[in-house]
Amino acid sequence: SNHLSDRIKNMSTSATLAMAAKARELRNEGKDIIGLSLGEPDFNIPDFIKESAKQAIDENFSSYTPVDGYAELKKAIALKFKRDNGLDYGLNQIVVSTGAKQSLYNVAMVVLNPGDEVILPAPYWVSYSDIVKLAEGVPVEVSTGIDTDFKMTPAQLEAAITPKTRMIWFSSPCNPSGSVYSKAELEGLAEVLKNHPDIYVVSDEIYEHINFVGDHVSIAAIDGMYDRTVTVNGVSKAFAMTGWRIGYIGAPEWIAKGCTKLQGQVTSGANSIAQRAVITALEAPVNKIQYMIDEFHKRRDLVLGLLGEIEGFNLNIPEGAFYVFPDISAFFGKTLNGTTINNASDFALYLLENANVATVTGEAFGNPNCIRISYAASEKELKEAIARIKAVL
Ligand code: PLP
Repeated sequence: SNHLSDRIKNMSTSATLAMAAKARELRNEGKDIIGLSLGEPDFNIPDFIKESAKQAIDENFSSYTPVDGYAELKKAIALKFKRDNGLDYGLNQIVVSTGAKQSLYNVAMVVLNPGDEVILPAPYWVSYSDIVKLAEGVPVEVSTGIDTDFKMTPAQLEAAITPKTRMIWFSSPCNPSGSVYSKAELEGLAEVLKNHPDIYVVSDEIYEHINFVGDHVSIAAIDGMYDRTVTVNGVSKAFAMTGWRIGYIGAPEWIAKGCTKLQGQVTSGANSIAQRAVITALEAPVNKIQYMIDEFHKRRDLVLGLLGEIEGFNLNIPEGAFYVFPDISAFFGKTLNGTTINNASDFALYLLENANVATVTGEAFGNPNCIRISYAASEKELKEAIARIKAVL
């Protein structure tokens, strides 16, 4: 391993995947672990989507696909952007990739030069910072806390901008905080950017449909933002298709072209069967997946209620996604059953080893006071997990 490249040596392992692996290991040792660490819906893929995948196999959709995605899929994506987001993207502005993760990586590689700064309102999704670093960009974290519902204010944005700032990356609904930016809040950020015309925005909207307040707004639809925003989306979360690996962007044409060029040398077009199935998923009316959103909403209320009863848990009210992100810094400096808790990582490890519940440290998301708990689990598991957490605290 001495010969590993600096690039890989300097990269952190995805903390959510690492926690899942650790939980799996303990489970193999016979421990009854409840896993609340992964961002993965626990639903099956809706049958109508499965059917179209089966049909695609029978119809021999088995050759290499166009690098930027099937034209039929890009048309479905264009219609979806129009229908759900009020955005007009031409097919030359859309690129289909192997998961939104690849979409994000493509954009970093296409837009950033070494040393370019990328503002990440923290907490942010784990992979942003390592993807930016892989592209030799410099992540600039803007810390937010529970007092602003974990959202970046216009003043914070203004203060973080330097002559080297090239991009801002954020997700709304946010993984890990569940926060949803309102139209007015996005307009506030857009107002700041008016004075900085060379800064681009990555708006990660993969949790768009998992929104309990009901008014998802794309920043690309705000005045002046369309030409400088990359709208990222995918089917992993809302359609419970994590393993199918399809994500996509709507972007200025030059960025889309760059992503296609990169992808053409690295992965080629995304999986053929999955792409056909995603056409069906995106063409379906959103009410076909409402049952999953309703279920997440119920579980959010359950989890907020139960965690709220634990002294030392300080919670915002997440309006979307399927995570809670409690501030547990009240426990720092305390010793529980012989273990001293100095930080969020200690706390998450303590819960894993003592309560057999897997969560993720907020440090991985750029917030050292919190842990992330995914409620993409059954009500029974959630109740049991929180009862165990309460018992060991
Ligand atoms: N963006 C956010 C905010 C996510 O939470 C995730 C998945 O955890 C992704 C992107 C990646 O999604 P995909 O499965 O499409 O690669």
